Amino acid sequence: MKVLYRLQKEGFEAYLVGGCVRDLLLGREPKDFDVSTNADPEQVKKVFRNCRLIGRRFRLAHVYFGREVIEVATFRGGGEAENDKQVLNNEGRLLRDNVYGTIEEDVWRRDFTVNALYYNIKDFSVVDYVNGMADHKAATLRLIGDPETRFREDPVRMLRAVRFAVKLGFKLDPDCEKSMHDNAELLSSIPAARLYDEVLKLFLSGNALQTFEMLRHYGLFQVLFPATESSLALEENGFPRLLLIKALENSDSRIADGKTVTAYFLLAAFLWEPVQIRAKEKIAKGLFESVAYQDAANEVIAVQIKITALPRHITMAMREVWSLQPKFNVCTGSKPSRLITHPRFRAGYDFLLLRAATGSADPELAKWWGKYQDAGENEQRKMTQPSRKSQSKSGRKRVYRKKISDDKTGTDQG
Ligand code: ATP
Ligand code: MG
Repeated sequence: MKVLYRLQKEGFEAYLVGGCVRDLLLGREPKDFDVSTNADPEQVKKVFRNCRLIGRRFRLAHVYFGREVIEVATFRGGGEAENDKQVLNNEGRLLRDNVYGTIEEDVWRRDFTVNALYYNIKDFSVVDYVNGMADHKAATLRLIGDPETRFREDPVRMLRAVRFAVKLGFKLDPDCEKSMHDNAELLSSIPAARLYDEVLKLFLSGNALQTFEMLRHYGLFQVLFPATESSLALEENGFPRLLLIKALENSDSRIADGKTVTAYFLLAAFLWEPVQIRAKEKIAKGLFESVAYQDAANEVIAVQIKITALPRHITMAMREVWSLQPKFNVCTGSKPSRLITHPRFRAGYDFLLLRAATGSADPELAKWWGKYQDAGENEQRKMTQPSRKSQSKSGRKRVYRKKISDDKTGTDQG
């Protein structure tokens, strides 16, 4: 309200626009607030002390209130890409868009009709040029203009379609749906950093499972995670789909309980099976198990970061979660007491639980580690003493080997 009134006082038009209007009309709390104005970014900067200009593709003003940011965008104009302020690539993708205009022009730049409603602070009305209110009432996501053209301009709109459909419980207009089936591949031309941001929005929003199913339905998931998609094609008895689904479900229920979720844990689950598959191929070619798993992890991550630029701290954490898995197989001696002090132990253990719940690890082993964590020091010592049976010739070692090959886990023990 401060931003809107301030702009108005300085003689500019000011509207709330986009997701916040859409969400307020549904009685939902908006995630963020976007403001649209006829003031250009330099003028916005002069109005607010607490303001920074950002962006190249879209030049925007950010107005700060403590930790909150209000995004203030100048109306976009210019229907045709005829000057250097608006640039399309040869697939029709909009690379730069800094032609300013009026609200009547701005409206056509928006993606969905329900995202193109403007709340006018001057008279508290909702301005609607594209029949967005009717679509909003009918819970329909309809692209403004020709879907094919709009998806070519910016293929990320396909991911946005899925995200909004899931988040709002809206259905996609049939033309939009058809165009998504046809154009999913276009997504591969999007810079990896932007796709990573979108992946986070898609999967950390509390509806990850439904999002996953819908992305797969439209052929979008295979562009984002091709190795995961092909591992799903090889599935037997519902596995590894089960592990993924369980990971997504866990993540959703954590968010529902107000707990935090980490991107690396889900990503580790996404790429777990691809790593297993590659490692097994390498072992079959004669590589040591530990080397095979390391190389497989390197290769799978190298392919994935070209598509979605996973930051280094994320890939490091994923590797740690993976490399902890074989270490859980050792339940005797001093190793367990060292393992539980590992900074990533909790995540590693949660991953073991996930595997145990979906058939890729021994549930008894997971139970043992649960008990071990809760036990007192004396009890822990007792638990890690080799039993007499295991010291016999038919001993423990052989049992481990079997376990390792049974549960499809690599080992760092070499
Ligand atoms: P969210 O609830 O995720 O914030 P939102 O609709 O507000 O949803 P934003 O990314 O915050 O999404 O964008 C604000 C508005 O800017 C959108 O509602 C839409 O009108 C416009 N917009 C954003 N991204 C695009 C895009 N890729 N193509 C066209 N319009 C877009
Ligand atoms: Mg928004």
